Amino acid sequence: MHQVLGSGRIVPSNFENPLSASLTALNGVGPALAKKLARLRLACVEDLLFLLPLRYEDRTQILRLGELQHGARSLVCGEVQLAETVYRGRRSLLVRIADGSGQLTLRFFYFSAAQQAQFKPGTEICCYGEPRAGKSGMEMVHPEYRIVRDGHNPLASDSLTPVYPATEGVPQGRMRNLAAQALALMSQHPPAELLPAAIREELKWPSLQDALSYLHQPPTGADLEALAAGRHPCQQRLVFEELLAHYLSLRNLRRLASREKAPSLGKSTEIVARFIAELPFTLTSAQSRVSAEILDDLNRPHPMMRLIQGDVGSGKTVVAAIACLQAIARGMQAAVMAPTELLAEQHLASFTEWYRPLGIEPCWLSGSQRAAAKRESLAAIADGSAALIVGTHALFQETVDFKQLAIIVIDEQHRFGVHQRMALRDKGAAAFGQPHQLVMTATPIPRTLAMAAYADLDTSIIDELPPGRQAIGTVALPETRRDEVVERVRKACQRGQQAYWVCPLIEESEQLEYQAAEASFAQLGKALPELRVGLVHGRLKTADRDAVMDAFKRGEIDVLVATTVVEVGVDVANASLMIIENAERMGLSQLHQLRGRVGRGRTQSHCVLLYRQPLGQLARSRLAVLRETNDGFVVAQRDLELRGPGELLGTRQTGLPQYRVAELTRDGHLMPKVQKAAEHFAKRPELAAPLLRRWLNDADRYGKV
Ligand code: ADP
Ligand code: MG
Repeated sequence: MHQVLGSGRIVPSNFENPLSASLTALNGVGPALAKKLARLRLACVEDLLFLLPLRYEDRTQILRLGELQHGARSLVCGEVQLAETVYRGRRSLLVRIADGSGQLTLRFFYFSAAQQAQFKPGTEICCYGEPRAGKSGMEMVHPEYRIVRDGHNPLASDSLTPVYPATEGVPQGRMRNLAAQALALMSQHPPAELLPAAIREELKWPSLQDALSYLHQPPTGADLEALAAGRHPCQQRLVFEELLAHYLSLRNLRRLASREKAPSLGKSTEIVARFIAELPFTLTSAQSRVSAEILDDLNRPHPMMRLIQGDVGSGKTVVAAIACLQAIARGMQAAVMAPTELLAEQHLASFTEWYRPLGIEPCWLSGSQRAAAKRESLAAIADGSAALIVGTHALFQETVDFKQLAIIVIDEQHRFGVHQRMALRDKGAAAFGQPHQLVMTATPIPRTLAMAAYADLDTSIIDELPPGRQAIGTVALPETRRDEVVERVRKACQRGQQAYWVCPLIEESEQLEYQAAEASFAQLGKALPELRVGLVHGRLKTADRDAVMDAFKRGEIDVLVATTVVEVGVDVANASLMIIENAERMGLSQLHQLRGRVGRGRTQSHCVLLYRQPLGQLARSRLAVLRETNDGFVVAQRDLELRGPGELLGTRQTGLPQYRVAELTRDGHLMPKVQKAAEHFAKRPELAAPLLRRWLNDADRYGKV
């Protein structure tokens, strides 16, 4: 038995389905080309079908030369009037064509003698390109062109022309040819339809086969606008399928974890009840609800995997302290990990104070600790005499050996991705099972994004601030009004309040950032001689920084000049004024975090966003959002819309899946439907497996369905 592939090449039919054959099964694809295509993550024929065009060109109409518009890519035809080589700085070939309605100049910088010889006057040619209005009329630089023979225009097409993602050494023409071959194969061997019919019918979506044909070769008259915006039903159908595959993979991880063992910590203990009763404040109802959810999880013999979301200042830490205490009450260990030393220190301080009445002293572990102190901590962690350990990621280095770790609390979750989460979990594993995990994020994540990115975690939301908090009044002022702002700082401090002055974020250079902070410090010191001005930045030794922070906390410093190190965790209730320099350089969520350092006490607090002019459109929108709302969820939603999920979750290592066709910012609205569809698959894991294989590059990692 043999099968005919593409245009006539014969390959043995030992493939069950030619779509899963290697690309070399296609006409004109040898090992060299296959290697280049691999850069686009293309391995088998089916992969080509899922590599969707980036955009489409309309070559269904031939435009008259007189109708050409600057910048609008067009297909035209005309007769060569003249072709000449000119030297104006650079050797180039100019070809003038005309069609009675107007004329057009084609300009080539790279050309062969043979090419030049083609352009004999009187020859009819067609070309496709972007016309630009030049000194001597319309011009196209290096258009795609062909000779017209027997009135046949080889560039014209009945359907829109797809433009594929480019990779070096594979011209568009070749990509189109390969996609066409794959489509031809698909028409004989339709790919498996993995979406349940009920869902497709409900959403009125086409079949996979129809969607793919349409997207690779949209007919004339297709809604190009919808296609460009990714809103076409054919696209949405694929997007949905991809989001569903990723969602199922995360849920699957979640399910696997629910089969792992973890220490069951029993029902709420008396010590926890006493702790809550003796706190200097009453828990908000949101804090109580979330604590109950956590204690419930901890009672189970499987690892908790829970994310707490709560706006800055909503009081996540005390909830973590309750969770840890439940483990400690059972004679086990709890660890709290923060991404920076400063934040870890802040937690250490809070826990120390809260646990003092209980006679529990937290143990500190960080990378910068002196060797002797570290040895001591490590010994206490290993022999179990340390019940609560607070630190940075040093906590999860090889040398740390917990005796009985029952729970890990990770603050600032958004800096860790799913892979890191898995690694952490493995690290904490012990004979009695895995530790429970509680992750806390200070960046509220829009619901749809959370669903897509954190489907392996259960989520609790602290959606209430402690009583008495007032909305922070926010204004944006140009840098030119700096003097007024300095006056404002003076007045606030004369009234006995304190202020933060945050210096520009300079991502490119820590050195420059530090210099900027020094400069502001010097300038403010001079402008406000009667006030006590302090400075903290990332370069200070821990002890020096602590000294400054402590002084600020005790009210011995009026104005704290700081780099963005104060972004997270710092908690000084008497500080009521926040100035942020060069606010236009910062992301929305970061600004919201910084602003959240004030408004913690009973005084009305203010935030001044100083910006340098001119202000770009994006920066302007960002600052406007902060002026309009104090709600972290709204801020995050706007941040998502303005910058996309990668930026929102902390740029580099978001741990977000790499999607092929989906874009969370655009397609997040599908998540509730994805979640619903996933229920259908939960009961039928055999249906999920092929979906994961189709869409996930490292399906194996998640794929133990
Ligand atoms: P975040 O959620 O930003 O991490 P924190 O846990 O740092 O917030 O809490 C912010 C401040 O609010 C801390 O000073 C904390 O002691 C205080 N706090 C927490 N819960 C309450 C409450 N229920 N009532 C009053 N103050 C609270
Ligand atoms: Mg916090």
